[in-house]
Amino acid sequence: MQRDLLDALRCPGTHEESWLVAMVLEASGPTLLVAELACPVCGAEFRIDDGVAHFAGLAPLERHTPALPAEPYTSDMVLRLAALLGVAESQLPVGLVGRHAAASGALASFVSAPQLLINGGSVIPGPGVSRIVVADRLPLGVETLAAIAVDAAHATSPFLESAARALRLGGHLVAPAEAPVPAGMRELARDATEWVAETTTRASGLVELRRRAPDSVG
Ligand SMILES: [Zn+2]
Repeated sequence: MQRDLLDALRCPGTHEESWLVAMVLEASGPTLLVAELACPVCGAEFRIDDGVAHFAGLAPLERHTPALPAEPYTSDMVLRLAALLGVAESQLPVGLVGRHAAASGALASFVSAPQLLINGGSVIPGPGVSRIVVADRLPLGVETLAAIAVDAAHATSPFLESAARALRLGGHLVAPAEAPVPAGMRELARDATEWVAETTTRASGLVELRRRAPDSVG
C-alpha cells in the first residue's frame, strides 16, 4: 500500500468518521509493507501485511477475495473501462474492485492516476499501486477517489453507498446493470451489463480532517 493512501483511510466501524493511527513497521520508499492501524474511536485494529491493508475483520478472507474469472480482461474491455471511468490523470486514486483489478496493468497505459485494488485476489500490483482487502464497505473518507469500478460480487447497497461517498464531486462509479444507483448520483449511461453514474452532491466528512489535510480532499 502506498503511504499517500494513509490520509484517505477511515475506520470502517459504524460510528462517526475517524481517521486511523498508523504505526509503520516496515516500508520500502513510498510503499508500506508492514504496519499496524488503529481507530482512536472504537479501538479496532487493522494490519498492513506484505503490502496489503486488511479491513475484512474476523470474516473469512476467502469470502472477500473471490477468484478471478477464467475469462481474461481483454484489451477491448480495458479500453471500455478506461472510457467509463472518465479519468485521464488525477492525484486521487482510481478504485478497481474484485474482477476489475485484473485490468490494473493494462489500464495504467490509459489512466495515469494511482490505482487502488480492492479485493483484487491474486493480482500482482505494479509500481505505485495499492492493495486493500475490505468487508461490506470501503474504509475511505469523503472525496478520496477519482473514480471506481465495482464488480457484481461487491455491488451491494452498503458497498456502493460507501463508494459514492468516497468519490470526488463529478467522479464516476461503474457498476453492474442490476445494481441500484446510490442516492446523490446521476446516471450518465447504461447498457445491458453496466451503468456509469457521477456524484452530484458533496458528502460531509470530518471537519477536523479537512483542516488537517486540505490537499487530500481536492
Ligand atoms: Zn473505529
